[in-house]
Amino acid sequence: ASGDALVTALIGAVHDTILAHRDELCDLDRAIGDADHGHNMARGFEAVAAASDEIAALPFGKALQKIGTTLVMKVGGASGPLYGSALMAAGKAGEDAPTSLVEVVARLEAAVDAVKQRGKSDVGAKTMLDVLVPVTEALKAGPADPLATARGTAAEALEATRPMVATKGRAAFLGERSAGHLDPGARSSELIIDAVCDVVE
Ligand code: ADP
Ligand code: MG
Ligand code: MG
Repeated sequence: ASGDALVTALIGAVHDTILAHRDELCDLDRAIGDADHGHNMARGFEAVAAASDEIAALPFGKALQKIGTTLVMKVGGASGPLYGSALMAAGKAGEDAPTSLVEVVARLEAAVDAVKQRGKSDVGAKTMLDVLVPVTEALKAGPADPLATARGTAAEALEATRPMVATKGRAAFLGERSAGHLDPGARSSELIIDAVCDVVE
């Protein structure tokens, strides 16, 4: 099945939310990093949006892979290869758009594994994984309302990054001083999850 309309909508929604929160993502990164996360994500999703028609003409799995390679090429920071690997792995999990929660979870698990491998990291390091993993786990349990579960888990998981001490990425250089701030990549992951939920609702 072709995912044309779905892929176009997903790209549009994620692009919109990244642009709308660009300054906020930079402000979060200013506190514990180098103040560029909003710009990095915006640059990546500008390129994805510019290629939206071409990407949406591909089968769903190939479309995700193409979004991933575009992010790897266009995003300067650490987040580009990490989100890029996530999308490439999710795309390789199957050609057709998911038709069940089980299929969505399989793609999320592939994405999470790719970030862990690429980032040599895991939960608790104050990164995007601290949102992506809990959301994947919550959906894996087969909740009655997957969208509300995904949104609620992402919001709670984001907030839970605040007291964490970063052990991966630039924020790790701050050591204990990284505590007391939300992780910028955890916030962008939450924004992306919310945007995807809005589209599939
Ligand atoms: P950079 O740190 O190169 O400027 P960004 O600011 O775009 O890149 O992205 C920073 C975000 O990337 C962090 O907030 C964190 O969520 C995520 N990140 C950084 N390093 C890792 C890692 N090793 N594993 C998982 N996520 C990471
Ligand atoms: Mg940065
Ligand atoms: Mg940077």
